Amino acid sequence: MEICCVGGFEEVGKNMTAIKVGEDVFLIDCGFYLPGVIELQENNEIGYTTRGLRRVGGIPDDRVIDKIKWRDKVKAIFLSHAHLDHVAGLPFLIDRYPNATVFGTPFTMKVLDSLVKDAHVNIKNQMKVVQSNSTHSIPGASNDIKVEFVHTTHSTIDSTFVVLHTPEGSFFYALDYKFDDTPTMGPGPNYTRLKEIGENGVKAAIINTLYSGKLESNGSEKDADDMLERAFHEADSNDSALFVTTFSSHIERLNNIVKHAQKTGREVVFLGRSLAKYVECAQYVGKCPFRKQIKLMRYRGQVNSILKRVNENRGKYVVVCTGHQGEQNSILDRISKGQTNFTFKHGDHLIYSSSIIPTEVNIEARRVLDDKLKKIGVNLQVNVHVHGHGSQTSKKKLIELVKPKILIPAHGTREQEEDLICVANEYGYKLGETSYLVNNGQVLKI
Ligand SMILES: [Zn+2]
Repeated sequence: MEICCVGGFEEVGKNMTAIKVGEDVFLIDCGFYLPGVIELQENNEIGYTTRGLRRVGGIPDDRVIDKIKWRDKVKAIFLSHAHLDHVAGLPFLIDRYPNATVFGTPFTMKVLDSLVKDAHVNIKNQMKVVQSNSTHSIPGASNDIKVEFVHTTHSTIDSTFVVLHTPEGSFFYALDYKFDDTPTMGPGPNYTRLKEIGENGVKAAIINTLYSGKLESNGSEKDADDMLERAFHEADSNDSALFVTTFSSHIERLNNIVKHAQKTGREVVFLGRSLAKYVECAQYVGKCPFRKQIKLMRYRGQVNSILKRVNENRGKYVVVCTGHQGEQNSILDRISKGQTNFTFKHGDHLIYSSSIIPTEVNIEARRVLDDKLKKIGVNLQVNVHVHGHGSQTSKKKLIELVKPKILIPAHGTREQEEDLICVANEYGYKLGETSYLVNNGQVLKI
């Protein structure tokens, strides 16, 4: 078995791994590196194309797969979950792998479908929608090789571990996850199956390194739910506006927000294209329990007319909207620049059910936005949130369950990857023998 660490091994983003078993090659994930993509969106001189994305490092540099002569052997592409840093690169690279069948869970595949439409590309590949906790043969690949999708908790629905079972042993892909024993939507992680997989033997595992150095728990979604309850309690006053913003793909969180918003007796409206996209995908796959309780406004005209009503009847609505990272053209950004029919006033409330993704652009954008709002006298409640990535406890539990012979950290800075190497040392792994710090493009023969 050979593993080509294509992208996401030196940063958070552009995740992509290739595995070669015999004459078959399989790819897992193909995501965006968001800082690169944002740079591209703000620079009109470089086109928003595969070439442009390559130039800014916004997608995995999969040209390494040509270099090692694996490209014609790619039989399938497996997607772990719907986050952009795992799937959004695929519409721009998939034409390089015309014979590969794409596998993913229903929500992931629906989000991919919507990204493909956004990118205006035609995909001719076979698409296979699979359920969590299921195992599949792969068209065109050796019959002895199967792929399994094991349910896990994370910060978007339908997230999975991807496991490749081969005659040479099993390969385990653990990007991204948090072991949450008290999720508020859907089942907990499939520990029973993870234990079985571990007992049957795992040759190698790629494991997410974010928060490997953090000892205390990152909290359950149940904790986020309790935090939201308190935040809403604090924010509900009769005639003030009440806004909430969170990650659009975090359907479980949105469900909790709607639950608490409804208790205020106000009408709940969702504003913005990104929220509309993910809510509609969740609805399509039957996993949007709050859909009938909300009004969803996607287009600018609709958004403006509802914001006018909110402006005139501030106490009648809870507005759930985009903009928690201060993103340009998000609803909060446009409101703060006076580009809508709504104006924040002293005493209004804004709940950030999010944390700042710590890039320079986000930190600065949020600083500017929050300064403006504070000057007006808007009550800001920040970090009403728990992370979707587990801390050190989650890493240890995975190592104990899956017991991989070889451990490869990914999805973090070098420092964070070193933290996971330290955790692995406690279990007897030896750097360079059974654990590896790898660079993008590196090939490991195991
Ligand atoms: Zn993720």
